[in-house]
Amino acid sequence: MIPVVWSEAQRLHDPRAEIWVGVRAPAVEVAVRADAIRSELERAGHPVVAAEPQPDDALLAVHDRALLEFLAGAWREWEASGLIEDPGQDRVVPYFFPHPGLLGPLAPALPAATWARTGAFAFDTMTLIGPGTWEAARGAADAALTAAELVLGGEPAAYACCRPPGHHVTRSAYGGACYLNNGAIAAERLRAALGGPVALLDLDAHHGNGAQSIFWETAEVVTGSVHVDPAAGWFPHFLGFAGEDGGGANRNVPLPPGSADEPWLAAVGELAAWARGFEPRALVVALGVDAAAGDPESPLAVTAAGFEEAGRTLGGLGLPTVVVQEGGYDLGAIGGLVRAALDGMTAARPVEAARHE
Ligand SMILES: [Zn+2]
Repeated sequence: MIPVVWSEAQRLHDPRAEIWVGVRAPAVEVAVRADAIRSELERAGHPVVAAEPQPDDALLAVHDRALLEFLAGAWREWEASGLIEDPGQDRVVPYFFPHPGLLGPLAPALPAATWARTGAFAFDTMTLIGPGTWEAARGAADAALTAAELVLGGEPAAYACCRPPGHHVTRSAYGGACYLNNGAIAAERLRAALGGPVALLDLDAHHGNGAQSIFWETAEVVTGSVHVDPAAGWFPHFLGFAGEDGGGANRNVPLPPGSADEPWLAAVGELAAWARGFEPRALVVALGVDAAAGDPESPLAVTAAGFEEAGRTLGGLGLPTVVVQEGGYDLGAIGGLVRAALDGMTAARPVEAARHE
């Protein structure tokens, strides 16, 4: 059985909404997602382990201090600014961005106005901050790091039930319903303890642009992602194309909308074989399950059996493995999909314990 690392703080984040094409719609990244996964894994017999608070250093290893300071203080500043009463915006949301076309060769100043500062750190309007967002994001990162510590302590695999997710966050900017890059933070922790390379493979339906960017051209943490083709009109739109290879340290496998088990599993196999070539010491799996048929957020059509087979493929690498939860929005299905992936990994054992330098 694979330990399930859990942080109660994750419930504190309630974005309420996401703003898409200027329209405020109900949020899909909600706390009950994590509850659904946890109860399914508990029912299957996986033990639940409490996340341990972790030092700031582990976050600073992959994120800029300015981003962390902004996220930690954003809600308090928004409250103090009076924007909740006038004009009546109850969540932190950007409206103005330091676009390269605006600035030209000039470096952006950090805006004095609270309502403008958000644009220096957020790359979309979808990812709102409210009371408890920072505590929840921090709790999710603590869960990922606790899972890494379990693996460093000899567990063959550990699963972090991270919520909010993290895989879209870069070193200096957040978005895509993500605030801290939990998978990247875990990968960097494993790399620091074991030496490189560490492989980070992303199965979420959307491109893992955050880890790609954070570890760009860094063979110490090699990154791979299978996802719906951004050229077909899918988030993160500007990134996730096959040509983005990070000097050989990154691999993207974009798939057309409608892709089901066969092409998706071929892509997972391709990423696993590619990662194996680096002889990694550990693996981080960014396990989004929104590639599933029936998920409202993606047009891929993977089955539960497909997720189990993907788990078997990745477990077959025989590496100490941290699994970090990313997307997955079909509340009736996500628990079973995560369980299927973990079942596949367990079936593929034995796994060698982490070898410390
Ligand atoms: Zn996703």
